[in-house]
Amino acid sequence: MFEIGIQLRRERGAENVFDFSLGNPEVEPPAAVIDALRRVATEDRPRSHGYMPNAGYPEVRAQLASRLAASTGLAFSAEHLVMTSGAAGALNTVLKSILDPGDEVIVLNPYFPEYRFYIENHGGRMVPVETTADFLPDPGLIAAAVTPRTKALILNSPNNPTGRLYPAALLRNLNAIVRDPLIVISDEPYRPIVYDHVAPPETLALIDRAVLAWSWSKAMAIAGERIGYLAISPRLEEAAALANACTFAHRILGYINAPAIWQRVVGLVPEATVDVALYQAKRDRLCDALQAMGYDAPRPEGSFYVFPKTPIADDIAFIQALQEEGILAVPGSGFGRGGYMRLSLTISSPEIDRSLPGFERAIRKMQAN
Ligand code: PMP
Repeated sequence: MFEIGIQLRRERGAENVFDFSLGNPEVEPPAAVIDALRRVATEDRPRSHGYMPNAGYPEVRAQLASRLAASTGLAFSAEHLVMTSGAAGALNTVLKSILDPGDEVIVLNPYFPEYRFYIENHGGRMVPVETTADFLPDPGLIAAAVTPRTKALILNSPNNPTGRLYPAALLRNLNAIVRDPLIVISDEPYRPIVYDHVAPPETLALIDRAVLAWSWSKAMAIAGERIGYLAISPRLEEAAALANACTFAHRILGYINAPAIWQRVVGLVPEATVDVALYQAKRDRLCDALQAMGYDAPRPEGSFYVFPKTPIADDIAFIQALQEEGILAVPGSGFGRGGYMRLSLTISSPEIDRSLPGFERAIRKMQAN
């Protein structure tokens, strides 16, 4: 997609290419985050740049744990947290800790394509399970896919690519089917990116056997800084052993520890979040316009992705038709679900406006054929 983008820009001029394929926040980090970074950098705290305990600075973990304890009502302490290199580092760390060769991990289709590689990195086998017609987990299908080799179920809400936010009642239903040794790995880098003032449910409060993979990549628009954490539910009987395994795994995977300066920064302003209203305005503009043209383009409830049906079943062919209009989108088949496309709201508002005639021509061309 990146290469096609370069070629299209060369052929048509950058102003005529509309890149809806990226997952990189285009906004700057909140001012509070940059202020905190300045403060941390000027503190001159001795040995600020060295190794630390592999799980991260104990005081930062303790502080984040007390916030989790307050929001979930669970007895979180520093020992339940491992600071990680983003959500990707968190996911690889917990998968390394729990998987033996041949173990299975259930993912929900459509899924973030890197899950397959993360699972296979540690000898596991990815088992995709279909979701409902509106992309929610189907507890019956998940229960039917569990075998004696199943070690984990990965949930991702708000979801990449569908933009769905899983309701609390559904998470409660999932809790009923998650039995030892299965754990839920809840991948939530988009958690603060939710629309219409909806409060996302607390997965850790609703699912007993859960581990949270958290990151500030999207929340603070600092994806390049690689900072997140793993939170292991104190309700897990094996919480202490799993925390030890994750601390060791994070080290031997070569991450060693999460970035030192950024642990301090997120410790100072853990709640700072980009202005979600900007994404929401773009969501509304794009979904309204696409729907008016006849696209089936539901509004996402969270994340910054729109996941419309492609007007023809062959999503790859439709993506090519969009490319002829200078529009770059990711085919749903890249996420295991053909017949859809993912459009990222990290593109600017004026670009959305200028791209709309291209979307209109592409759907009309399909209708004419
Ligand atoms: N999970 C999902 C669903 C994602 O979309 C991403 C990033 N695009 C990640 C995990 C990895 O996030 P991070 O940059 O925090 O490692």
